[in-house]
Amino acid sequence: MGAMTDLLARFPRAVLGHWPTPLERAERLSAALGGPEIWIKRDDCTGLAIGGNKTRKLEFLLGRALAEGHGTVVTFGAVQSNHARQTAAACARLGLRCELLLSRSVPRDDALYETSGNVLLDHLLGANVRIVDGIDETVKALEEIGPACVIPPGGSNATGALGYVGAALELAGQLAAPGGPGRVDRVVAATSTAGTSAGLVVGLAHAGLPARVEAICVYEPADVTSATLEALVEETADLVGMARPTGDHRVRDDWFGAGYGLPTAAMTEAVRLFARTEGLLLDPVYSGKAAAGLVGMVRAGEIGADETVVFWHTGGSPGLFVYPEVFTEPS
Ligand SMILES: *Cc1c(COP(=O)(O)O)cnc(C)c1O
Repeated sequence: MGAMTDLLARFPRAVLGHWPTPLERAERLSAALGGPEIWIKRDDCTGLAIGGNKTRKLEFLLGRALAEGHGTVVTFGAVQSNHARQTAAACARLGLRCELLLSRSVPRDDALYETSGNVLLDHLLGANVRIVDGIDETVKALEEIGPACVIPPGGSNATGALGYVGAALELAGQLAAPGGPGRVDRVVAATSTAGTSAGLVVGLAHAGLPARVEAICVYEPADVTSATLEALVEETADLVGMARPTGDHRVRDDWFGAGYGLPTAAMTEAVRLFARTEGLLLDPVYSGKAAAGLVGMVRAGEIGADETVVFWHTGGSPGLFVYPEVFTEPS
């Protein structure tokens, strides 16, 4: 925590979560896969309205919004955005007006998808929800809302990524603690707007941990995601005053399937495996596809049985409830 204070202390921060999140060994999952040693970083347990990775970003994004005197926050996402839900909760907690501009980026418009899961919680948390399709409707909505702090999709700019610089330093402390894994060879995380992976790459480099980040694409293919990630790594390193890290990281879209929010058989299998070996709830859009990546890399022998892997659980379980057809089929 000392290093974290030094590196991040100069940035305004609104504390919203329960820190540190647990780092737990998944012995039954490891055994089911025949090794490696798998640990789960429980960012599904950040403590803010069902948790998830956006809580860490929002501490810095909303810390800055408050410091700049904003009373209204606007952000963007898919109809079932976990980022939107956590922003709504954070704004409620901080007394900020929350405006959510949600778009139909998944080809679904059924009643369940548009009223349950995350979007139900957005309404409950008091956010003003608008479904916008296309740039014209977005511009019009922004004009209607007026002056506001505009947070990018996924909370992914360098300020948001600071949350994951801090998360990497938090992990470094847990590795070395009594009962911790001692070392980590790889970190596996679902990647869409890339603030999570960018922050981890920068933070792991700062902590001097040689772990490889395996960024598993769930939103866009590897070329696009990789460009987003590299730009954000550079901006985040600049913001904290570090040289651009040369750390080992890789962007993979082998488990992306046909598109964002579209289920795959490997995702369904991985979500079931985590649930039935560890009692862990992943989600169909993000962490389930990242878990499919972990399972796939182990089975292909890309991850050796002697390695220690941290699977970063980024949350998202409200999404389970809008994909009943995928999870209620017998298997
Ligand atoms: C947003 C999100 C991600 C991806 O994080 P990025 O920083 O946008 O790459 C992963 N998992 C869940 C559950 C998310 O909501």
